[in-house]
Amino acid sequence: IQSEQMRIDFSWINEIKEPESKADEQFKCELLKAIENKEIKPFYQPLYQIDTNQIYGFEALARWDHAQKGILPPSEFIEYAEEHDIIDLIDDLVVAQACMDIKELMEKHHQDFVLSVNISARHITQVNFSTKLKNILTNTNFPGEQLALEITETALMQQIGHVSKTIDRIKQQDVQISIDDFGTSYSSLNYLKYLSVDMIKLDRSFVRDVIYNPVDQRICKTIIQLAEDLNLKLLAEGIETKEHYEMIRSFGCKIFQGFYFSHPLKFEDMKKQIAQQRT
Ligand code: C2E
Ligand code: MG
Ligand code: MG
Ligand code: MG
Repeated sequence: IQSEQMRIDFSWINEIKEPESKADEQFKCELLKAIENKEIKPFYQPLYQIDTNQIYGFEALARWDHAQKGILPPSEFIEYAEEHDIIDLIDDLVVAQACMDIKELMEKHHQDFVLSVNISARHITQVNFSTKLKNILTNTNFPGEQLALEITETALMQQIGHVSKTIDRIKQQDVQISIDDFGTSYSSLNYLKYLSVDMIKLDRSFVRDVIYNPVDQRICKTIIQLAEDLNLKLLAEGIETKEHYEMIRSFGCKIFQGFYFSHPLKFEDMKKQIAQQRT
């Protein structure tokens, strides 16, 4: 009976696997072409600093400007790109374009902004990462101290010795390190002790229900206090309402990101919004 069952199981898997892998290959081809044609581009979401009442900087967020399907969010292609080892191509494209765009903005407004970019765990552990980053900074003439790399805890926990060497090399270029989605993955507070981190980004899952959930309130307060004690900058993600903003601010947070302030915008729209706000 058992072997009969096995036989049936296998044939079932083979039947569904065949067409899937073809579609898979087609998608990879399409994505590679999109990268080559620069259909993948950064959108920008402002980060607000309340003690100076200024825009602190912008997070660059990848979008696929698809000819037929319109603007596609990262959930449609980032994980796929990570699994198929082409995420480095996307990160590099986004970083280079974002450096050019934000440089233009800084020159136009005679003001410094921090450009925050997402780097996948798969990518930052590549041996040539810091050399490549240096080339991007040189080619775009972007000041290293205005760039921040957002890395998740998972990325830091992978091969910590290797990552710490990479981070040292990144720091030699004055580039900042932010911990993205802080508090959500497998983590050890050890890395805060050994690695030179500049900013913690409090994950939006703690902010979402903070108004009526006392556990979230305590978690937010504690992480904000931790950052202050360790002399790290802290940003709260996912600020969607005035209530979110006021409560998180009352806990001592000074840098904010979320739909309450602005959605991620394409560069042209973001430029218009900044120009408007300044008048
Ligand atoms: P993330 O780095 O945590 O980025 C923040 C995400 O939260 C963005 O989603 C942003 O649109 C969304 N968000 C911002 N404010 C709010 C809010 O008030 N409420 C809610 N519900 N969401 C908010 P997005 O653009 O869809 O990006 C999703 C994820 O994709 C990013 O999460 C990041 O992990 C990844 N990603 C985006 N661009 C890149 C990239 O160029 N390279 C890599 N490796 N990953 C990227
Ligand atoms: Mg991020
Ligand atoms: Mg985040
Ligand atoms: Mg997040």
